[in-house]
Amino acid sequence: MTEQIVKMATGSSALPTSTLKQHYDKFLDCVHCGLCLPACPTYDELGLEMDSPRGRIHLMRAYADGRIDMTDNYVHHIYQCLDCRACESACPAGVSYGSLIEVARAEIEKQRPRSAWEQRLRHLVFKTLLPSAGKLSLAFLPLRIYQSLGMQKLVRRSGLANLLPKQLRDMESMMPRLPSRSLKGKLKPVIPARGERKYRVGLITGCVMNEMFTHINVATVNVLTENGCEVVIPEMQTCCGALQVHSGERETAEMLARKNIEVFETIDVDAVIINSAGCGALLKEYGELLEGDPIYQGRAQTFSNKVKDIHEFLAEIPINENMGECNVRVAYHDACHLVHGQQIREQPRSLLGRIPGVELVDLEESDWCCGSAGIYNITHPEMATRLLNRKIKHVKKAKPDIVATGNPGCLLQIQNGLRQEGKEIEVLHPVELLDRAYQAVKKKP
Ligand code: SF4
Ligand code: SF4
Repeated sequence: MTEQIVKMATGSSALPTSTLKQHYDKFLDCVHCGLCLPACPTYDELGLEMDSPRGRIHLMRAYADGRIDMTDNYVHHIYQCLDCRACESACPAGVSYGSLIEVARAEIEKQRPRSAWEQRLRHLVFKTLLPSAGKLSLAFLPLRIYQSLGMQKLVRRSGLANLLPKQLRDMESMMPRLPSRSLKGKLKPVIPARGERKYRVGLITGCVMNEMFTHINVATVNVLTENGCEVVIPEMQTCCGALQVHSGERETAEMLARKNIEVFETIDVDAVIINSAGCGALLKEYGELLEGDPIYQGRAQTFSNKVKDIHEFLAEIPINENMGECNVRVAYHDACHLVHGQQIREQPRSLLGRIPGVELVDLEESDWCCGSAGIYNITHPEMATRLLNRKIKHVKKAKPDIVATGNPGCLLQIQNGLRQEGKEIEVLHPVELLDRAYQAVKKKP
């Protein structure tokens, strides 16, 4: 079957040595049982073996063996993958599918030059803007002006948005209301615990998170300090590199990882906290990312061992239960890189369930990708829309007041889907709800 799949997908012959060979052991873990197939959103939607985890593993291995070329078809199937890692959760053999697909993409980016404008765009986004808080902030400035002058409302209401090219129109429709300024200067580098200090934690504030979701970072700090944490926010931290790794820009991600490791080595903390699922999954894999680097590999593992997703951290400590009532129906959507990338499933639900007045309602296929997947909704809008529609159908059935999810990409994607349906359902990070509950106590007469 392997040969047949490979021929169908690529129609090709032999080729040079591949860096995938260094990860060959991971191919051997796969016993071709197919138990991952029903968990794979692209296989479920398209019904093609080449768009299943097993099919892609066959393709990558055939390429690593030199049995096929890096054809357009090969590239198409490798990039059609969401990198959602649902196949990892389903796999009984423990195949590290995520690292295989990420290495395969890095190899594609090395072997196949993109057009000049694509190269410039990727350089600008992955190597210039995301790694630099200052430059990213500048890049967001025109968007802030566009919104603060009311132009976004005008463009949307007048139908002018429909005149934009499709990709730009999709990106415009996804853009949330930006905070008036980024986090820089809003939070102090060290924020004391409220009451007795029990822990000292570092906080990763993220790149896009810092610009678009300032309020979630503020809520995270509030919740941590309410729970006895002194929070340290090192100014020199940088983007984690997750978007780069998913897009084949592995070397840039390695460079960013080294910088973050150095920065966090200068502070003595019990844990390094992250509130974005996509970033957290990579931060916990810095050891693997820098495997073979004699100077950083051990340090990377030490760093990764300290990284805790905010839900994970709060679930491990005796939480401050002094919360006010919220009285809302909440549907929880599992972000792929939290549930499949970090196996964090119960902790967010348990935290939400401890907020007085919160009723957790069932969300069908809660751990099925919403189509956001890093920049997938921009690069593959058709598949992303199919998955979003599926998610929104389930949300409508659950009839919640709030959808809660622990990843900024999912937040934007689901917000966008609900806005298009005209549904007034809030989409929040669970820490925002926890923060509301703590604030509610303070407002009590
Ligand atoms: S990846 Fe895992 S579940 Fe999928 S075919 Fe291979 S062994 Fe089976
Ligand atoms: S990462 Fe997601 S989309 Fe890709 S093969 Fe695995 S389950 Fe399918």
